[in-house]
Amino acid sequence: MEKINVNEEQCIGCGACVAIDPEHFDFNDNGLSSVISNENLDSANLTSALESCPTGAITKGEGNSCSKDECNCCSDCTNDENCDCGCENCDCK
Ligand code: SF4
Repeated sequence: MEKINVNEEQCIGCGACVAIDPEHFDFNDNGLSSVISNENLDSANLTSALESCPTGAITKGEGNSCSKDECNCCSDCTNDENCDCGCENCDCK
C-alpha cells in the first residue's frame, strides 16, 4: 500500500508541510512532522508539501515503511517483528 513517510532524522520541524497540507501532516510531541493520514495521496497539496520540504524528509511510495497501516516511521523500518529501527512511531513490535 502506498503511503507517506517522514524521516524524523531529516525533519527539522520547519512546518512547511504542516502549513501547506494539514490534511496529511501535523507536529508530533517532538515538534517534528508526523503523518496523520494516508488518504487522498494524489492531492495537489501533498505534492506541494513534498516539493517544499527543505530537507527531503518526506517520501511517498511503497518504500520499506511498516506494513501496518497506522505505522509511519522511518526508512530503516523492516516491516516485521525483528524491526529495531528505534523510531518512537514504529508499530512493528
Ligand atoms: S517540510 Fe520537511 S523539514 Fe519541514 S516540518 Fe515538514 S517534513 Fe519536517
